[in-house]
Amino acid sequence: MAHQIEINSISGLSESEASVRLKQAGYNELPSTQNRSMWKIALESIQEPIFLLLVGCGAIYLFLGDAQEALILLGFVFLIVGINLYQEQKTEKSLEALRDLSSPRALVIRDGERQRIAGREVVSGDIVVLAEGDRVSADAVVLWSTQLSVDESLLTGESLPVRKRAVEDSLELELATQPSRKHRPGGDDFPFVYSGTLVVQGQGIAQVYATGLRTEMGKIGKALQTVEPEDTVLEKETRRIVGKLTIVAIAICIAVIVIYGITRSDWLQGFLAGLALAMAILPNEIPVVLAIFLALGAWRFSLAKVLTRRIPVVETLGSATVLCVDKTGTLTFNCMSIQQLFVYQPSPHFYDVTLHEREPLPEAFHELIEFGILASRKDPFDPMEKALKQVGDDYLAKTEHLHYDWEILREYPLSGKLLAMSCVWQSPEGKLIIAAKGAPEAIADLCHFDIQQMQDLEKHISTMATAGLRVLGVAKAIGRHKSDKQQNILPDKQHDFEFQFLGLVGMADPVRPTVALAIAECYHAGIRVVMITGDYPATAQNIARQIGLQPSTEAIAGTKLEQMTESELLTRIQTVNIFARVVPEQKLLIVNALKRYGEIVAMTGDGVNDAPALKSAHIGIAMGERGTDVARESADLVLLNDDFSSIVRSVRLGRRVFDNLKKGMAYTLAVHVPIAGMSLIPVMFHWPLVLLPIHIAFLHLIIDPACTVVFEAEPEESNIMNRPPRNPKQPLFNRHTLRLALLQGVSVLVVLLLVFAIAFYSGHGELDARALAFTTLIVSNLSMILTNRSWSRTIPEMLRTPNPALWWVLGGGVVFLGLVLYVPLLRHLFRFSFLHFDDLIVSLASGLFSILWFEGLKIWQRRKGFV
Ligand code: ADP
Ligand code: MG
Repeated sequence: MAHQIEINSISGLSESEASVRLKQAGYNELPSTQNRSMWKIALESIQEPIFLLLVGCGAIYLFLGDAQEALILLGFVFLIVGINLYQEQKTEKSLEALRDLSSPRALVIRDGERQRIAGREVVSGDIVVLAEGDRVSADAVVLWSTQLSVDESLLTGESLPVRKRAVEDSLELELATQPSRKHRPGGDDFPFVYSGTLVVQGQGIAQVYATGLRTEMGKIGKALQTVEPEDTVLEKETRRIVGKLTIVAIAICIAVIVIYGITRSDWLQGFLAGLALAMAILPNEIPVVLAIFLALGAWRFSLAKVLTRRIPVVETLGSATVLCVDKTGTLTFNCMSIQQLFVYQPSPHFYDVTLHEREPLPEAFHELIEFGILASRKDPFDPMEKALKQVGDDYLAKTEHLHYDWEILREYPLSGKLLAMSCVWQSPEGKLIIAAKGAPEAIADLCHFDIQQMQDLEKHISTMATAGLRVLGVAKAIGRHKSDKQQNILPDKQHDFEFQFLGLVGMADPVRPTVALAIAECYHAGIRVVMITGDYPATAQNIARQIGLQPSTEAIAGTKLEQMTESELLTRIQTVNIFARVVPEQKLLIVNALKRYGEIVAMTGDGVNDAPALKSAHIGIAMGERGTDVARESADLVLLNDDFSSIVRSVRLGRRVFDNLKKGMAYTLAVHVPIAGMSLIPVMFHWPLVLLPIHIAFLHLIIDPACTVVFEAEPEESNIMNRPPRNPKQPLFNRHTLRLALLQGVSVLVVLLLVFAIAFYSGHGELDARALAFTTLIVSNLSMILTNRSWSRTIPEMLRTPNPALWWVLGGGVVFLGLVLYVPLLRHLFRFSFLHFDDLIVSLASGLFSILWFEGLKIWQRRKGFV
């Protein structure tokens, strides 16, 4: 027998049933091609130049008959590949975690409760709730819908949305879910929705019948890309520089091989020298450093409850100059409670609900609440509707004002043009009752208020708004009596009803307690905060005062914004930080005006209509909790907890990532100078070679983890939020930074050359001089790591700043140095002689001495107040 489907009693699958089905059918996802396996990463790392160079050197040693050298180089190969693998794994893991987090979510009904779950956990039989802006998570039969239409272009290529209807009864539902059914995406008025398609209008409830590979999407094997790989300006810039450096490096290496070969007629040694030099100066670390910093940065963001959809934004965020944020939900909790009521009948008066907590609600306000509730969904999701229902439950229980048995016939949704929504109900006796609620001026418009009435109403509205309340108007209308329920008797527009104004409801939405501090932090950091809200200017100004947003006196309304001339807009946008009565479409105006004024704009949004603004902003931020999938897909960042202070935390993190990148790069650049110099100069001066491939491989064991893991983990500078945003046009290395980094390298090189030359020419042997110079190089290398941790604080000051990775690298470096100096076999392989205690002291002292000037510079700069 065919039964009408009763939506309100659907309780969905039970949690245990769902998990059984999940085990049976597997996750609702398409096999991803994005995961790189361990093997693939390993394969990639052996294509790295450093690896090839080491193997090349090993081959030459074998050729020369030095099996031990060859073996130890092979050992280094493993260690370096190991480090590479570790770094790559770390990068890969953080990217994977991000992909998991950013995979679509689904709103399902299980055990009678609505809950949001990851889209991949949806199983066949689940009841999913669809709303405008959602991506459908699996193929499903529509059980109930209002005005539901879906964009199926992903599957059909047809860009016009298609209308959906619900199945009529249980019989059709049963037929629809049979495996033999033959329906394909496309076409109006079918009761099916398909995975991956987008709800563009209306709402619906649907029952899943196919997941994963069994969906239409799965059949054509298309997957929605979640994290899009995209190159940053920084990446492009670095790639260009690295390309140039590589050419120069290769040219120098060839020159060395040729010079060595010709002047000393020993081509194999010449090749060794050339390859060693190549290992020393090929700038292959730089792209690795960049990739790791950005990926780990994105991972750190996710710890701060911010999801990165486009990795480059990690870098952009540090230079944001304006944060444009929605008031409701981001600055406040979006958790409404009713504070004040106003009615005209029997006489115009206010009533403070919170002041009379345990007293019954005066009769005059009953109808206002009754129609407020009727203008909401039965099972409300919206915080305002929840608040109305709460008051109903608290004060109107057991009165004739709550109508559990009424049936909803039609809903007229809120639109940007008319901020009001209405519901049409039918009572069991067949009466039609229409309730509307919305922005008071919209409701007044529906009730055809004249200017006089309007002015009077505005007085009452502003009383509530200046107290920081969100104000809603409520109205009622009685429809024509009708016996059969044909929907098409109802008019198309809300305006066609005869509405009668009932009163105003004032709701409070508490401010998030962390916001005031976060805003103060922004101001210190030279970042403007702009509040955007659909509420009244007066409400917004009140909230602005509560959170310390300045100036709280000026506000522009959305409609004014649209009427402004270009030049007027450009002047006003420089100072005004409150935009009220804004509909999402107007956000684009704000973003673009700010951009023209030269700001780097971050903008939050949640709805379908926010997508253009999110795309246009330099940094689009979607709300993870209430944001639609469309908004998430247009955004660069997704806030997992919708909280403003998370945005500020990630700005702070973005600045830190950039700082550390700069430090890491400066160190990498600096440390290459002495190594290159010590490889090149001996060839030119006809000295014995100081650095052989083995030494350079050893150095890489320190440099590689230092420039990535150590500097990436460096805690933020104390002034990080007390300085203006970075100019995005300014390169990572300006001339000043570049000069200082190179100077560090040069000073170390000079000290090394002196140590080597003095030892060599004062009659110590080659082995002695090499041991001294190499030890000095290691000490100065470690000192360079220490000094570059901060460009404003000295090494002793920085020792108190924790960084575990640092101690691993330093400790490892010292232990390895001890081994190669004092284990006879290794000493022999490294071509060292026994280093006496006083020599050790000399190396230590000169290694430290070589960077002392930079420490002095920090102190001097601070005295002068430069930093
Ligand atoms: P905000 O940007 O501050 O979240 P919204 O755009 O959500 O503001 O809402 C703007 C205005 O639209 C509200 O002040 C209210 O008047 C009206 N409005 C919003 N949601 C509803 C609703 N569910 N029912 C009736 N009116 C609503
Ligand atoms: Mg809102």
